[in-house]
Amino acid sequence: MRRRTKIVATMGPAVADLDSVRGLIEAGMDVARLNFSHGDHDSHLQMTQWIRQAAGEAGRSIAILQDIQGPKTRVGTFEGGSIELKPGETVRLVVSEDKGRHGVIPIGYRHLLDDVEVGDRVVMFDGLITGRVVEAEDAALVINIERGGELHDRKGIAFPDSHLNLGPITEKDRRDLELGREMGVDYVAASFVKSGEDIAEVRRLAGGSVPIIAKVELALAYQNLDSILGQADGVMVARGDLGVQLPMETIPNVQADILHRTNQAGLISITATEMLDSMITALRPTRAEVTDVANAVASRTDAVMLSAETAVGRHPARVIEAMSVICLEAERFRDAELTGSETIDFLENARTFASATAKAATEAAFNLGFKTIVAFTESGATARILSKYRPSADIMVFAAEGRIRRRMALFWGVTPIRFKPRESTDRMFAAAEKYLEKEGICERGEGVVMIAGTPPNTGAYTNLVKLHVIGERLRNPKRSRRSDRSS
Ligand code: PEP
Repeated sequence: MRRRTKIVATMGPAVADLDSVRGLIEAGMDVARLNFSHGDHDSHLQMTQWIRQAAGEAGRSIAILQDIQGPKTRVGTFEGGSIELKPGETVRLVVSEDKGRHGVIPIGYRHLLDDVEVGDRVVMFDGLITGRVVEAEDAALVINIERGGELHDRKGIAFPDSHLNLGPITEKDRRDLELGREMGVDYVAASFVKSGEDIAEVRRLAGGSVPIIAKVELALAYQNLDSILGQADGVMVARGDLGVQLPMETIPNVQADILHRTNQAGLISITATEMLDSMITALRPTRAEVTDVANAVASRTDAVMLSAETAVGRHPARVIEAMSVICLEAERFRDAELTGSETIDFLENARTFASATAKAATEAAFNLGFKTIVAFTESGATARILSKYRPSADIMVFAAEGRIRRRMALFWGVTPIRFKPRESTDRMFAAAEKYLEKEGICERGEGVVMIAGTPPNTGAYTNLVKLHVIGERLRNPKRSRRSDRSS
């Protein structure tokens, strides 16, 4: 059985050599995430080369996702590297580049005193340390610490109740996006975006053509989800930071809601963070982690993501293997449950012709018991929409451009296949069936559904659905001779 849910793995020191990258691909990685909150330009360039080389050797389309740091607010540095914060004590938060000390936390955010008010919550170090503003002085905010702990240099600090006056992009992000353009990354993930406008700005700086994944990790981003869905190509449920911003008990429902709305908008959905966290060190996941991954699959996520598990973990390839089998089992269960009565609403806000043909193909394949749907795409849009209907059949997508095939590595259920453009749909279908038979994907006499845009190679909308029997062309010698020459 083919796994449908895609696996995104974060690159890092644990996999910083060609052999390790080969191991990740062999284990089932579909998308490599380069986390620009860590590493330098040389290390990201080197990693890109390894990924492209290993993917080429394996004959796989592997996408590279550049995750930019975004305007994350952080505390400054401390004398001795950290300070201890105790529950019940008060500390001063000051706008300063100087080192902090006991009772004083420096922060670089210049508008702190304008944007954060008495009563607002303050959350530090991924939610480990919490407090509330109890007084605003001329040059400091006084914070009462509620949950204490040791606060280290440059840890994150969030203000879930406040609207910070931050643009979507920092100077570092600009430089990183420029490098991303040179490297030819396949996706950009935008961190700490607040609205659709932020996405439009990131898109402009990323060069306009690379798809943008919005990381929903601010309470404000969740509030503005509709505006984000109007601009982004996909959404990541970034549960790490989102769990700091929103009460943790709301995260399961928020995740299900984001996935549902993203899928309904016809966009790519990714579920991220701490999915198999214990495997950073352990050889097996916990039962709770297995259930978490399976639940994300049941909520129709396109992809599940690994972070520290692969970037700094002890056995990165093994984590991917574990994730892969969990996804496969969750999908098998879902397939067994399918009765044909499950309908996905028509994706009206996606391209309507592609949407109608994709829905028709999905239903025809199910009703006729066909195991394969074949699609031809120039931009990848048809493949994305087809995937959104979550067909029970495998989705084989033929595309000429490597860039488009790599993007499809993130689409649920889609297998990208290299293809030489043909001048007629008959020739395209003939070449495709020859490939499917040769690769053992389909057998002679088996039925498949084919969808395409005609006339081909003109950017036409997907407007054709054909029910096709493999080997059918052999019953028409004239067409057979032509297609044999062209494949
Ligand atoms: C997250 O917060 O869940 C996330 C994916 O972002 P990052 O790993 O960049 O902190």
